[in-house]
Amino acid sequence: MSEIRKGMLLVISGPSGTGKGTLIEKLMKEDPTLVFSVSATTRAPRPGEIDGVHYHFVSNEKYDALVAEGAFVEYATVHGNRYGTLRSEVYQRLERGENVVLDIDVQGALNVIASEKEKVSIFLLPPSLKELRRRLTERGTETPEQVETRLGNAIWEISQKDKYEYKVINDDMEECLNTLRAIIKAEKHASAYYAVEVPQE
Ligand code: 5GP
Repeated sequence: MSEIRKGMLLVISGPSGTGKGTLIEKLMKEDPTLVFSVSATTRAPRPGEIDGVHYHFVSNEKYDALVAEGAFVEYATVHGNRYGTLRSEVYQRLERGENVVLDIDVQGALNVIASEKEKVSIFLLPPSLKELRRRLTERGTETPEQVETRLGNAIWEISQKDKYEYKVINDDMEECLNTLRAIIKAEKHASAYYAVEVPQE
């Protein structure tokens, strides 16, 4: 039996501090069919971040030019920085049958949900707002004011959760990973992505 498959567009988003980045990294390590869409951003690289691997770090001028030439699938300003999903990171790879992972914020995800007919959207939830505050405070990458802004944003973001196909709570990391694995496995067999040809013999 031969199988012709084109890739799935996997949109993973949720409030800052839900553990999105870590979960995506773990999933990508174990599943070679997943490829990461490297976004363009105007924010400065953090220590250890590599241009072209974590993000394409661009100037505001370059970002404006990318918007003007229609290079983005979606773009949004998140916590004061600008981010965009590049078409060049997405469509050719889907055609090649790769499963493209978008780690994007809720505004961007809602745009992709509205514009892309075939996609799989997953909303990651924190177990509680109290726990989200604890995680954001403990990771120490934001000032106390930034933590408050992110918590404020999280309340609006969580109100959008029902617009996604899947909602997954990241309480226990291993449990959450198992759920994500199950979703991805099932979706790989969804008819939109998986064309099976049955030979005569
Ligand atoms: P960070 O600066 O911490 O890497 O990311 C901040 C937020 O921006 C995260 O929620 C991340 O998912 C989101 N983000 C990263 N790339 C994109 C993108 O291309 N589009 C949108 N809309 N959000 C993005």
